Amino acid sequence: MTKVSCDEYLSARIRELFGNDSRVSSRRGLGGGCINNAEEYALSGGEKLFVKRNRSSHSGLFAAEAAGLEALAVSGGPRVPGVLGFHDDGTDQILILEFISPGVKGRDFWELFGRQMAILHRAGTDKGFGFDGDNHIGATEQRNGWMPDWLEFFARRRIGFQLELAISRGRMDTGTAGECEKFMSRIPEILIEPEMPSLLHGDLWGGNYMIGDRGEPVLIDPAVYYGHREADLAMTELFGGFKPSFYSAYNEAYPLKSGYRRRRDAYNLYHMLNHLNLFGASYLGSVQAILRRYT
Ligand code: ADP
Repeated sequence: MTKVSCDEYLSARIRELFGNDSRVSSRRGLGGGCINNAEEYALSGGEKLFVKRNRSSHSGLFAAEAAGLEALAVSGGPRVPGVLGFHDDGTDQILILEFISPGVKGRDFWELFGRQMAILHRAGTDKGFGFDGDNHIGATEQRNGWMPDWLEFFARRRIGFQLELAISRGRMDTGTAGECEKFMSRIPEILIEPEMPSLLHGDLWGGNYMIGDRGEPVLIDPAVYYGHREADLAMTELFGGFKPSFYSAYNEAYPLKSGYRRRRDAYNLYHMLNHLNLFGASYLGSVQAILRRYT
């Protein structure tokens, strides 16, 4: 059997979606992505596509991203680009998405975003905490599967996994690793079980939403799983940029439990460990600062 290359797959998908005469009339590189090569494809019939390619060895990367985007497409939640196809030819991987024409923020952008995130977080599952299959957060693997206990899931699959990675990559001294282990063992005292497993974007910072053509929020580039909604909210505060009206609208629609502020940085330890693993020692100080707050 001959392998279908990513380019052949893309041409076939274009013909299926837009008719046999449809051709690519131009391609334009899009900046902003940290990991993949992202492009806008304009077609002969005037349609546009968003196409992401990856040449790394992360096989299954885009199948997992597609599954995440499809899970996020909850009625009443933030808009999510439709998945039009994905393919892995053994060398290249490709993800084809509905093209989001960038707009300018509508006047109620942040209120709408807050209300829509509350709706997303009310989408639950009876499977427990996790997701079907692993995915990625940035270029790092994110381990999922399902566990019945949130605190154990967060300790083992989130903090524990990143800690092991940091040790194996030589990013962490033994003293900090010891503090991190102490933090893990104290998670049941630091964090609380949620009211339900919430559907999470998983990597909700300012680079992972877009503004759609009607001025509305659009979620992109997720690291989806079911977990405590405080984890998503915490990340919005890590690098900032989300306006107060986002939080007030969210809280009105789905109030956070008291003590969230004390728990917030514990959730962000996951992202700081991931940054340490991805970008190196400049993040060690941030990791240590969070650990000092809790141990
Ligand atoms: P990466 O996985 O490399 O981080 P992203 O998914 O963040 O890539 O996409 C890179 C950039 O492409 C984004 O910052 C955004 O500006 C743009 N983009 C992402 N998804 C779409 C889309 N569906 N339509 C149009 N532009 C998009």
